[in-house]
Amino acid sequence: MTELKASANLDELASLCKRRGFIFQSSEIYGGLASTWDYGPLGVELKRNIKESWWRRFVWERDDMVGLDAAILMHPDAWRASGHVEAFHDPLVECRNCHQRFRADHLAGPKCLSCCATDSFTEARQFNLMLKTFLGPVEDSASIAYLRPETAQGIFVNFENVQTTTRRKLPFGIAQLGKAFRNEITTGNFIFRTREFEMMEIEYFVRPGEDEECHKRWLDDCMGWYTGLGIRKENLRIRQHDPKELAHYAKATYDIEYRFPWGWGEIQGIANRTDFDLKAHATKSGKALAYFDEEKKEHVVPYVIEPSAGVDRAVMAFLLDAYAEEEAPTADGKTEKRVVLRLHPALAPVKVAVLPLSRNERLAPLAREVFAKVRSSGAVDGFVQYDDAQSIGRRYRRQDEVGTPLCVTVDFESLDDRAVTIRERDSMKQDRVPIERLPEELAKRLKRA
Ligand code: ATP
Repeated sequence: MTELKASANLDELASLCKRRGFIFQSSEIYGGLASTWDYGPLGVELKRNIKESWWRRFVWERDDMVGLDAAILMHPDAWRASGHVEAFHDPLVECRNCHQRFRADHLAGPKCLSCCATDSFTEARQFNLMLKTFLGPVEDSASIAYLRPETAQGIFVNFENVQTTTRRKLPFGIAQLGKAFRNEITTGNFIFRTREFEMMEIEYFVRPGEDEECHKRWLDDCMGWYTGLGIRKENLRIRQHDPKELAHYAKATYDIEYRFPWGWGEIQGIANRTDFDLKAHATKSGKALAYFDEEKKEHVVPYVIEPSAGVDRAVMAFLLDAYAEEEAPTADGKTEKRVVLRLHPALAPVKVAVLPLSRNERLAPLAREVFAKVRSSGAVDGFVQYDDAQSIGRRYRRQDEVGTPLCVTVDFESLDDRAVTIRERDSMKQDRVPIERLPEELAKRLKRA
């Protein structure tokens, strides 16, 4: 096989996502809502798999982590204490010529990106990114609530609850997955920057003084998660924030960036938030938020290392990195172009597709039997699909294009020898396997791949 292309541009990716049911524009029948996206049948599987791999790696496989699922809506005082009401701002400028608005720190020079006018920008003003709503029937200042712009604060305000119910000793962390909302000045690049998105966040509590060492370990652990799931090292880099960029709570921050088609872009931030948040909430709420060190018999306010990743940006990076176009051999000795998503099996939306060679009615009962056996065996942890529409060649291409690692084909010989063919996505290698042994063979190959 000859590789023709090792990634996709944004249009190719968006078109594949639409065509194959990964991602649709939100409210499309009404003309769409700008920069808002819905995950389709395959997108939802991919996204679930990403979140589950993350949870498995950072919660289940560690003994210093627990989970939490806090509400999106929080007491408005939480956002005052955290500094978000005061300081969660981006600098906004407007072009006096075309009235488009931009984030000042995203502009490369004095030229308007929309109308090309030069030196037409207003002075930058600070624009708060929190989305507001009102709770209850009266829309007044007393009923204002915010849609959380990060999941972190739900963790900080529950520090004492988690600490007393789980009796954790430092260092330990709390992980949370969930939606966040930011009223971004400009959105775009498909699902890269949207106003509603999902986060995978950890607040890791350490003794002051151990924070810098711990920060480094988290950088390695987080990088290892992306590369372990198949992202090529050369497409990732770590960039340290310069002091001007640092958020109001951070002592140091590193971003993990991915090489997107338009350049490097952040997929995860790993910040040292010090004891800023716990102290701020303790002051505002009047409740002590500290850790009691039994040995030293003293209270410590832990420092916090925060690995904070975006699920949607991870979806995009995994898809882009998995995308390839190849010149592949066909059954009749020729070659043809195939698009393949070389997704890690843990992430693939469809793990196994069961395909009768044709729609011939003699094949259907056995193919259905094989399908049922694979699903009920528990050998495949995820979505198994039955597909009998169109020619077998086209079905292989379709499964390649959505990243299905293994196809199982039931043919006329199967009726006699009760064996089926397993076809591997990447090598296109085909092996014959007795139906008896199929579940264990699939499990082995999905693990090995
Ligand atoms: P940026 O500089 O791109 O605005 P940020 O530094 O504000 O991002 P963080 O506050 O560090 O982002 O958020 C953690 C993660 O959440 C980011 O690494 C990203 O993956 C994700 N994220 C943040 N904002 C958005 C958004 N508007 N749309 C999609 N994902 C986002």
